[in-house]
Amino acid sequence: MNRGKKVALCALAILSTLSLQAGDRVKWKIATTWGSAAAPIITATENMAKYVEQMSGGEFTIRVDSANKHKAPMGVFDMVKGGQYQMGHTTSYFWKGKDINLMPFTTMPFGMTAPERMAWMDFGGGMALMEKAYAKYGMLAFEGGNTGNQMGGWFKKEIKTAEDLKGLRMRIPGFAGEIMSELGVAVTNIPPGELYTSLDRGTIDALEWVGPGMDIKMGFHKIAPYYYTGWHEPGAEAEYLVNKKAYDKLSDTHKEILRNAMRLSAYRMYIEFYHENALAWASMKEKYPNIKVKTFPKPIMDQMRKVNDALVAKYSTQSPFFKEIVDSQRAYMKKARDWTIISDLDYIQGK
Ligand code: CA
Repeated sequence: MNRGKKVALCALAILSTLSLQAGDRVKWKIATTWGSAAAPIITATENMAKYVEQMSGGEFTIRVDSANKHKAPMGVFDMVKGGQYQMGHTTSYFWKGKDINLMPFTTMPFGMTAPERMAWMDFGGGMALMEKAYAKYGMLAFEGGNTGNQMGGWFKKEIKTAEDLKGLRMRIPGFAGEIMSELGVAVTNIPPGELYTSLDRGTIDALEWVGPGMDIKMGFHKIAPYYYTGWHEPGAEAEYLVNKKAYDKLSDTHKEILRNAMRLSAYRMYIEFYHENALAWASMKEKYPNIKVKTFPKPIMDQMRKVNDALVAKYSTQSPFFKEIVDSQRAYMKKARDWTIISDLDYIQGK
């Protein structure tokens, strides 16, 4: 090799090292609301971090801190806003106490199913509304994976009439919690890691978590064997929160890698939930014959719908932005649902 070539190669090597040192190596941390054992929801975060590292050729790494590590499952919003963590994986309806406008982005009772909601987000204006909702907190929010339709929860006693709900202590987050509260339930939102203990110790009488894939592993059925079908979270989406200042510092390539990694992990979470739920449901009856699957009686469901509409109207008066979000969801669902019925539902029912 001649001297000129050697010098050029040497310079190139130095340049590439310099450019990596100059800022191409990005190390982020993500805080999750979930504990380290909460698969497949924690798996979404781990997958996302893995995809980012792989796609960036190791230049961009994200350390996953589960709730077991940072000890603040309900502090994820503040930690990302404050910049202690560049990212969080959680759900927007946990923040209804901070800002009611953040709540509808997870799911709404009697609202859209997962595919309907996903279509609304990407093509029906949902994403722009979510961006607007989080802008005032210096954060961006992205879809973090959908659980699909959730089960209505575990109860120690059968719920036969609305009277049976009165005075019941139940963990149920989001708008459904508001509805239950109106029906006389004492509603709490306990962090996921404390659910079993709370039920076991009698701090609560009932709870809802997700679906059989996650619920059975938690052991709720041992204490509260009445398992109700869902009405309250027809397509609950987790969220990735990203500190906007940190995001703006990323190169365009790293931004694109991050967005694609989030989307891919969200898709994988959705299908993994479907798979886990299907497997758990198939084996549930045989393995745990004490579980009694129930649906809330129609009069209770009718009352829940009525209260839901009244609460939506109340919050719509308080916040025009809440009204804008829910109106957008309802208008989209009206169109999408007709298609869901004529395609999937009619097909399944063999019409
Ligand atoms: Ca839930």
